[in-house]
Formats: sequence, structure tokens, C-alpha cells
Amino acid sequence: MKQELLCKFLPMSKEEMDARAWSELDILFVSGDAYVDHPSFGIPLLARFLENNGFRVGIVAQPQTAQDLLRLGTPRLFVGIGTGVVDSMVNNYTANKRKRSDDVYSEGGKGGLRPDYAGVVFAKYAKEIFPNLPIIGGGVEIALRRLAHYDYWQNKVVPSILADSPFDLIAYGMAEKQSLLLARQLDNAKKNASTNNPNWWRPVLRKLQLQNERGFVFKMEREDVGRIEEKIILPSFEEVRRDKKTFSRAMLYSLNQINPYNAKTLIQFHKEIAIVVTPPGLPISEKEMDEIYDLPFTKEQHWSYKEKIPGLETVKNSITINRGCFGGCSFCALTQHQGKFVQSRSEKSILEEIKRLTKSKHFTGIISDLGGPTANMYKLQGKDLEMCKKCYRPSCLHPDICENMDCNHSRQVDLLRQASSIEKVRRIFIASGVRYDLAMRDENYLRELISKHVGGHLKVAPEHTNEEVLNLMRKPSFSQFVAFMKIFEKISSEAEKEQYIVPYFISSFPGSTPEMMEKISSWLKQENWQLQQVQAFIPLPMTLASAMYWTQIDPYSKKEIFVAKGQNSRNKQRDQLQAHRISSGIKKSFKQRKRSRLG
Ligand code: SF4
Repeated sequence: MKQELLCKFLPMSKEEMDARAWSELDILFVSGDAYVDHPSFGIPLLARFLENNGFRVGIVAQPQTAQDLLRLGTPRLFVGIGTGVVDSMVNNYTANKRKRSDDVYSEGGKGGLRPDYAGVVFAKYAKEIFPNLPIIGGGVEIALRRLAHYDYWQNKVVPSILADSPFDLIAYGMAEKQSLLLARQLDNAKKNASTNNPNWWRPVLRKLQLQNERGFVFKMEREDVGRIEEKIILPSFEEVRRDKKTFSRAMLYSLNQINPYNAKTLIQFHKEIAIVVTPPGLPISEKEMDEIYDLPFTKEQHWSYKEKIPGLETVKNSITINRGCFGGCSFCALTQHQGKFVQSRSEKSILEEIKRLTKSKHFTGIISDLGGPTANMYKLQGKDLEMCKKCYRPSCLHPDICENMDCNHSRQVDLLRQASSIEKVRRIFIASGVRYDLAMRDENYLRELISKHVGGHLKVAPEHTNEEVLNLMRKPSFSQFVAFMKIFEKISSEAEKEQYIVPYFISSFPGSTPEMMEKISSWLKQENWQLQQVQAFIPLPMTLASAMYWTQIDPYSKKEIFVAKGQNSRNKQRDQLQAHRISSGIKKSFKQRKRSRLG
């Protein structure tokens, strides 16, 4: 096999290590997804980042047994475990807890290649095979289980993953900085360690712990907790498991520690062991964002796969322009994972990536998305950043848009225009969800978006029509969605575009009663709207909505709320959103007065 191909990706085999003349790895990553060399995939992103910083990194993707972890030999420094783009339970089961047969992040879209609770399974494999190495976890599944949490699949409150598995440490957030710090400190320790000391790495973890380094989760003995300054001691696991009101209160405290400039260290005891969550990492700079996204990703699946990995098809012509989200929706864990402060790349870095993309063999002239977790937060931040550093609001947009938020989208408009003028780029679409309350603060952006960047359908998520439920979700009033619809239709008509909004609604959200769902159903009927897709609510770890679901308590007012539980009641709410389920589509122009709309 050609040397060039063997060195194109990070190694997944000894043959590829030999081609790079590597006798051993420094770091082994274990991934729940198949290996796709694209920055939308967390493990390849971290692996490329560490490779660029001089470390020899390899990947074992979707191991089926502990022995599979030996494919690349024993690494020098640590084993990093991430279960993939999506939590393994969400990947493996439907909202009704039925096993899925497919998996878009596996070769050929085949299901069954990742175990349930993959993080814990992989950590056990790693500890069995490499007992003398630190096992480090990260990514959405592992890091969002960092404290005691409600587990929808087992329908009970379960302990922190760190208290309940062989992980030695968890890095939370996007974790580039933590991984590099850890790799460098372990590298120093290894160089100075005696060859037969199996605990050579423990002092490094201990030092990070004593320095209270940001973005980590440690296990600590009870007597050491007194050394930590600026801490919040949460109710213990035993207490939150016993009492729903205590669980609700603990979730509110912990989720409010989201601002890295004023967050405190969180401590939660699990019997005599303290789980210590240090404050979130500081936002990374534009230069650091550029360095990460400019890394030499091939944007292809590893050559060893014979069949396509469907998850790559969705993102291969898309460009990530920022990370982080200040929306703070109560059902979404993205703010907890990527941070509340938006971190954006420079225009130059993004435009260079687009130019490289236009040269690839699969580029058809269409960029499928230019976005981030939310479509329209590029370069947006508070006008007075000192005020933001002192802020405790979980959302900059709810209950209303903060007066300190600068809603000027002009840098995004300029970026879209510059990107559109690049040779071979025919169209740029916005596929990420648009936060319409924010977009409506900038008419220029709305005109640019609606008249030029909608590929027939624009995904928008009003989520519900009832104001109380929207409040629990931390979403804008439904009247704002109606106002946005009118603007969308007006601009589309002026631009002579036949295009549609695809509204997303959630069924079975806490607080949502069958009567409220009936009102949505009537509204959809009145608007002649026939939804093709609805989202059945899944309570995800580390979200306030999961606490509402489990406790049936509004965490702010402390009042009891209705929650649709059980398959029948959940199915009923879903069916109410699809009362006019149809099998074939009818698409009519906005110019036609009587229209059927498909969402
Ligand atoms: S001050 Fe306003 S803009 Fe700044 S973080 Fe707080 S809510 Fe967001």
C-alpha cells in the first residue's frame, strides 16, 4: 500500500504506525464512532490537535472487545475515551426506548457496533488492558454525566460516572486545552519516572487537582475538600437520589455555574468520595479557534472502511464557523458542553477552508451549512464584556434579549457575501437552527438569509405554542415565531422564492398537557400545516429539563407540573402533533392562497 495513503489519516493499525516510523504511541484514543477525519467529530479533532503539538496519536474506533484496544500497542502517556458525536443511549434507542437498527456514525449505517453506555464499557476495557495508565474520559456522553443525574433509560437518579467506573479523570467541554496540559505534564513525568513504577502518573493528576485546573472532574478524599477555595457543596448523591426537591435544587445550582468568569468549583459527595468539578475552561481566542480548524483534516472516512459512513455525508460540505451558545434552552446540553460564550473563527480561516473545499473531488458547488450550534451567533457577544463576566443569567435571550447583547449580525452577513463570491461556490445554505428572536433584531441579516441562503426549507424551532411551557424551555414567546413567519413569507415573496419554514415542535415536554397539545394541533390545522417530523422529548443528563421530567417540579417556582410519562401518554402527545399525517407531499407556492405546508 502506498506510503502516502498509510500516512494520510491518524493510525488505526500497526501498518500505519510503521509507515510513520512510530514504534509506539504517546496517546491512544478510543472512539464510539467510526473514524471520520473531520472537525465535527470530537475524537479526531482532539487527536489532530495533539498530533499538531508533537504527540504520536492513534485511534481505535468502535472496539468490540478489550483485546481490540491492543491493536496499536501500549501507549506511553494515557488512554483518552470519547463515545462519539451523540450519547450512545440516544444513538442506540428511540425516544420510546426501542432499540434502533441503524447508526449513522458507523460504517454502512449499521447498528450494533457501539455498546450501551459505551463510555463505561470502554473505560473497563482500558483499565483491564492498561492497568498502569491513566484512563481519561470526555465528550458529551461521559462529561455530561459528571455529577449525579437522572438517567431516562433506567428511570432513576444515578451517580456521577466518575464514581461508578474506572475513569481516573474527566475533561469536560471541548477539552483541547485540558488534553494538551495533561499530555505535556504526563510527558514530563514519564521522562523522569523509573521504568518499574506503575503509579508514575498519579502525582500529575494530583497536581492538577491541587491547582484546581479548569475543565476537569476529579475524585477526591473527603479530608482534602477543605483546601478548595470558592466552592459550592451540592447535596450528596445519596440525598438527591432520595428526595426529588433536593435533586431539583442541586441541578439548578450546578447548571447555573456556567459562566467561566464567576463559576465556583462544585463538590458532590458520593459517600466518602468527593466528585470535584472545577470551573469551566475560559473561552478560546479567535487565533486558537483558527489553529484548531486549520488543522489538516482530510474530511474523509478512514480508508479501511468499505461502505459509507452516513454521518459524514451530512457534514462533509459544511463549515463550522463558531462554537458555544448563549441561548440556554433548558432541554439542550450544548451550552454546558461548548460554553455560554460564543467563540468564532476569523473570516480568513473560514474563507481559506472554503477554498480548500472547492478543490475536493466531492464538492458540487453547494456548501450545505455555514454555522455552529446555532446558525446566527457568529461573532455575537455582549457590548460590555466586563458586565458579562459578572453575569449569572443562564440565557442571554430568555426571558428577553439582554440589553447588553450586541445583536448586530453584520460580520455574518459580510462573511456570507465573501464566501458566496469564491470561485466554484454556487450556493451556501444555512442548515443549523436559526434563533429567530435574535435574527429579528437585524433586518439586513434576515434579508440576506431568507433571500439567498434557504435551500427550499428553513429549519426553525418554535418548540411549543403555550407560553408557560415555552418559559420552562427558555424559548421565546410563540408570537415571535408568528412574526418571523410573516417576515419570512414577505421576503421570500419579494425575492420570488418558493420556499418554506420547517417548524420543529417537541411533544411530551414537562409542563405540556394534552389540552395544550390539542391547541397546537388546532393551530397547525388552521395554518394547514402537516408536520413530517416531530421531536419526542428525551431528558438528557445535565439539563434542567431532565430535572423537571424526573421531579415534576418547576425548579424556579417550585410548583408541581404535569409531565407526560409512559408510552401511551407520550405517543398521544406525538400523535397530536401529526393529526394530519400524510403519506405524500403537496408543495404549493406562497403565491397560491390556499396552501398546504409541510413541516
Ligand atoms: S450581561 Fe447580558 S449579554 Fe452578557 S452574558 Fe449576561 S445576559 Fe449575556
